[in-house]
Amino acid sequence: MIRTHHAGELRREHVGEQVVLTGWIATRRDHGGVTFLDLRDASGLVQVVSRDLESAHALRNEWCVKVSGEVTARAAGRENPDLPTGEVEVVASAIEVLSEAETPPFPIHGADALASGVDESTRWRYRYLDLRRAGPAHAIRTRAKAVAVIRRVMEARDFLDIETPYLTRSTPEGARDFLVPVRLQPGHWYALPQSPQLFKQLLMVAGLERYYQIVRCFRDEDFRADRTPEFTQLDIEMSFLDEEDVFALGEELIAALWREILGVELTTPFPRMTYWDAMRRYGSDKPDLRFDLELVDLTSHMEGTEFRVFQAEHVGAVVVPGGASYTRKELDGWQDWAKSRGAKGIAWLLVPDDGSELRGSINKLEPERLETLPAAAGAKPGDAILFAAGPRRQTLELLGALRNAVARQRGLVREEEWRFLWIVDAPMFEPTDEGGWTAVHHPFTAPTEEWADKFHTDPENALARAYDVVGNGMELGGGSIRIHRAEMQQRVFDVIGLTREEAESKFGFLLEAFRYGPPPHGGIAFGLDRLTATLAGTDAIREVMAFPKASSGGDPLTGAPTPITAEQRKEAGIDVRPDEPAPPPNRPAGETRPDASRG
Ligand code: ASP
Repeated sequence: MIRTHHAGELRREHVGEQVVLTGWIATRRDHGGVTFLDLRDASGLVQVVSRDLESAHALRNEWCVKVSGEVTARAAGRENPDLPTGEVEVVASAIEVLSEAETPPFPIHGADALASGVDESTRWRYRYLDLRRAGPAHAIRTRAKAVAVIRRVMEARDFLDIETPYLTRSTPEGARDFLVPVRLQPGHWYALPQSPQLFKQLLMVAGLERYYQIVRCFRDEDFRADRTPEFTQLDIEMSFLDEEDVFALGEELIAALWREILGVELTTPFPRMTYWDAMRRYGSDKPDLRFDLELVDLTSHMEGTEFRVFQAEHVGAVVVPGGASYTRKELDGWQDWAKSRGAKGIAWLLVPDDGSELRGSINKLEPERLETLPAAAGAKPGDAILFAAGPRRQTLELLGALRNAVARQRGLVREEEWRFLWIVDAPMFEPTDEGGWTAVHHPFTAPTEEWADKFHTDPENALARAYDVVGNGMELGGGSIRIHRAEMQQRVFDVIGLTREEAESKFGFLLEAFRYGPPPHGGIAFGLDRLTATLAGTDAIREVMAFPKASSGGDPLTGAPTPITAEQRKEAGIDVRPDEPAPPPNRPAGETRPDASRG
């Protein structure tokens, strides 16, 4: 064994022991004939004292060293209460340099490391140094701990951890696929899975009943701060279930994570809200319930108005408590905010608390409508009313975003609260740009009982047995009860305009499996990155990824993606069209096909 103890575990009871420690030099301070080092390993930090100035003086931050010495109590008044090892120090008898380090591109330790706003791409480029820092390392540890909790819960509930292929064909989550050329079949491509959706359903046909997997998913989507091309799901599927089984499991998982990682006892069951209730009340399918500020529906109040702005399918508002004191500049700020989101703007009305006249951008509204507006909106003297009008869904979404922004601006978010809920009865379909329909969740999602026989006649209003779990305004997971009857599945394909041939060519293997007695089944997938980032106390999913890609999609560490050589291009058969005869195999004479030789 190279060491006897871990640096961070030394305490008063170790005083007098001879120890050998290994780790990195976090700091070095020379003080009147003595050198103080902070030695860091994965367990923490301990102070090392060296009187052998000559060699200690040569040491530099982030060198990797082995220290032999005796644990001693720090002199009275010299303890460091901020450090778990702060009552002791190790008086070195020998320090061996295991490897030297160049000066790191950013500070690793101490206040400097926290204060230094190292830009992300530098952090990801030197992620192995970034992870030497306490904060980033904590996030990665939190993720590992969360995974351990999840596996324990899933095992206790008799779920089987089953791997599914990464090299496969297109899966139905509706994003673009990442494609992989196949050398041995030039012109043919694998797709990386957007989720294991089809495989987990096949495992249900197989009679395994309870599947889970912590699995990488790949979606070629436009880059956004909270998206990366590869991400991880906790993916789950069950047979012979209904929504209640999924909710109970989801709540057990989340409650265990919050209890064991944050020491927070959540109240279960989580409340449930239908999709349209959430949209109507909060303008979002992931409402943040840590503040109230429910949206106001003024559509009927404005019915028949001559005022153009409010001649719309939906007129709604957010009442801002105390907002009557908004300055012109602040009100203009909301206009800019709305415009930056692609909206036309926001109308406003201030309700002064001194009884003076209403002031606003809607003075052309009929006087009787204007005067009764504060009461209709539930606004009190001293409040402001911010309005949006337009097509229903878009307007509700704009108001929902406004609700979030107002709550943050006015400090209304109860930051210490955890508010989870299930969103149920989501729409089954949404319109496509081409005037057709597409499945909101994915095309294997079952309709609600009410819509089972008629969803195809009214796709706009049809509801699905789909659910999302939302925590503090973040979508943490989502899933559905699946269709297991061929006739119903065919009607879904008809609505989304998938011909029999297309369905056959895309999902034929699943439809075929469904001819062999598929059980009723359903499941859910949690976004593991978002879930663990939340547990680690960060908004940024990249913090809980060991080697994240930059927001441009590239990997600053390896430099991926890279161009390929002409030779690789030829070998991968990228330019070969599948209907062309394959070029002669590019391998030494006499070698059999690799498949055949695998046995
Ligand atoms: N496969 C779905 C998704 O990735 C989750 C599910 O329906 O279980 O969103």
